[in-house]
Amino acid sequence: MKFQPKASHFINGEYVEDTSGAPIDVIYPATGEIIARLHSATPEILEQALNSAKAAQVAWAAMSGTERGRVLRRAADIMRDRNHELSIIETHDTGKPLQETLVADATSGADALEYFGGLAASLTGEHIPLGGGDFVYTIREALGVCVGIGAWNYPTQIACWKGAPALACGNSMVFKPSETTPLSALQVAEILIEAGAPKGVYNVVQGYGDVGASLVTDLRVAKVSLTGSVPTGRKVYAAAAGSMKHVTMELGGKSPMIVFDDADIDNAVSGAILGNFYSSGQVCSNGTRVFVQKGIKEAFLARLSERLATAKIGDPMDEEVNFGPMVSENQMNIALGYVEKGKAEGARLVFGGERVKGDGFYMQPTVFADVTDAMTIAREEIFGPVMSVLDFDTEEEVLARANDTEFGLAAGVFTSDLTRAHRIVAGFEAGTCYINTYNLAPVEAPFGGSKLSGVGRENSKLAINHYSEMKTVYVSLNDVEAPY
Ligand code: NAD
Repeated sequence: MKFQPKASHFINGEYVEDTSGAPIDVIYPATGEIIARLHSATPEILEQALNSAKAAQVAWAAMSGTERGRVLRRAADIMRDRNHELSIIETHDTGKPLQETLVADATSGADALEYFGGLAASLTGEHIPLGGGDFVYTIREALGVCVGIGAWNYPTQIACWKGAPALACGNSMVFKPSETTPLSALQVAEILIEAGAPKGVYNVVQGYGDVGASLVTDLRVAKVSLTGSVPTGRKVYAAAAGSMKHVTMELGGKSPMIVFDDADIDNAVSGAILGNFYSSGQVCSNGTRVFVQKGIKEAFLARLSERLATAKIGDPMDEEVNFGPMVSENQMNIALGYVEKGKAEGARLVFGGERVKGDGFYMQPTVFADVTDAMTIAREEIFGPVMSVLDFDTEEEVLARANDTEFGLAAGVFTSDLTRAHRIVAGFEAGTCYINTYNLAPVEAPFGGSKLSGVGRENSKLAINHYSEMKTVYVSLNDVEAPY
C-alpha cells in the first residue's frame, strides 16, 4: 500500500508490529482509497511502550538541558529539511490541501521542537531567601512518563506540541495518535531518534479510544495531555483523577467572531474565511459564530459569497487547490447533518450546503445567515465548513451573546476602534483572543481553552509548568528549636 509504514508502533527506538491488534485502515479522504493498514496496540504492545518510556526517562532527565535541547533543535532541522515529504504524508492522512500542509503542519511541529529545544537549558528553579540566613531553593523536576493523545486535524503538530515541551523538561512520552490519522506521529518518532534522542524517550502506539483509556489509568503514567472533543475530555479527566495525574485538556469550541460596522470588511471577511474554512473547517478554535453588526450585514455576506466562489476545491495534491475534503466520510456526514438542521430550524442558506460529487469526502464551504442564538448550528461544535452569521445592534448585547456558550476556546473582534477592541477582549470568556485577525497560533503564545474547552495551556513558556513540577528544599543555617 502506498503509505504503509514499516510497522504500526514505534517503541524503544524501533518499529514494532503485532498484527493481532484490531486493524486500522488509513483512508485517503480525497478518493476513499485505503493507503495503509495498521493495527491497534495490544496489551503486550502497551507494556513494551510504557516500560520503555519508564526505563528511558531517568537517564534523559539526568542529561543537561543543553543536551536535551540540542536533540530537539536537531529534530526541528530534520523536520524542516523533510517538510515536503512529511506534508505529502499529512495530506494523505488528513485530506488537507498540500498548499496548507506545506506551511502549517511539519513546519509548526518544527517550530515547537525548536522553541522548546531553545528553552530546555534555562529551565530552573529559584532561590528564596528567608530571615536569619535560612533559605529555600526549588528544583524543577520532570513529571515522569507523559501520555499524549491526539485528534486527527493536526496530527504532526499535535505530536510535537505535546512531545517537545514534555521532552524539554526531561519527561518521556507515549503518544497515541488519532486512529483516523496514525501516520505522521511515526515520522516524528523516527526523526527524534535520528536527531539523537535516546531510545524509549518518545514512543508511538496506535489505537482506538480503548487504547487511550488503558494509557490514562496506567500507574506508570504521571501526566496525560489530550487533544480531542469535550465528551472524550470528560472521560479522560475523570479517569486521570483516579491516580491524581496531571492533565492538559485541549478540547472543542464554538467560538465567536464579532464584526463591527467600522471594521475593514475585506479583513473581516478574510478572518471569517480563515476562521471557518481553513482545513475544511476542522479547526478547534474556529470562529463559527460570526456576529455582524446589522448595518453591514448584507455587504459582509455579499463580499463573503464572492470570495468563497473563488475557492478552489479539488485534488489536495494540486498545489493550486485551497479547499480539500473532510477527514472522513463520517465527519462529512456529521457536518451535512448540521446543514439539514440549520435549514429545518429556519436559518437562511447563503452559500454551499451540498456534498461535492465524487468518491472523496468533499462538501462545499457553507454559510448560513439569520442564525439565532438558540439554533443548534449556533450552539454545537460542527467541526466542518459551516459558518453561522448572526446579527446584532450594540456592543453590550453582542458581548453577552458571544459569551453565552459552554465553550471558551477562542474569540475574535474586528473593529477600527482599538479602545473598543480591548474592552471587548477584556470581556471575552475565552483562552485565546484575536483583534483584527483570527486563528493564528504561534508557538511563542499560550494556547488553550476556558470553560468546557479545556484545562492548561500548550505552547509558550507556560507549557513548561504543565510538564514539570517544583520540589521545595528548605535549608537552615541555624540550630533547630524544638518545644521540648
Ligand atoms: P475525539 O475526542 O473523538 O478523539 C480524540 C482522541 O481521543 C483520539 O485519539 C481518540 O482515539 C481518543 N479517545 C477516545 N476515547 C477515549 C477514551 N475514553 N480515553 C482515552 N482516549 C480516548 O476527537 P476527534 O474527533 O479526534 O477530534 C475532534 C475534536 O478535537 C473536536 O472537538 C476539536 O475541537 C478537538 N480539537 C481541539 C484542539 C485544541 O487544541 N483545543 C485541537 C484540535 C482538535
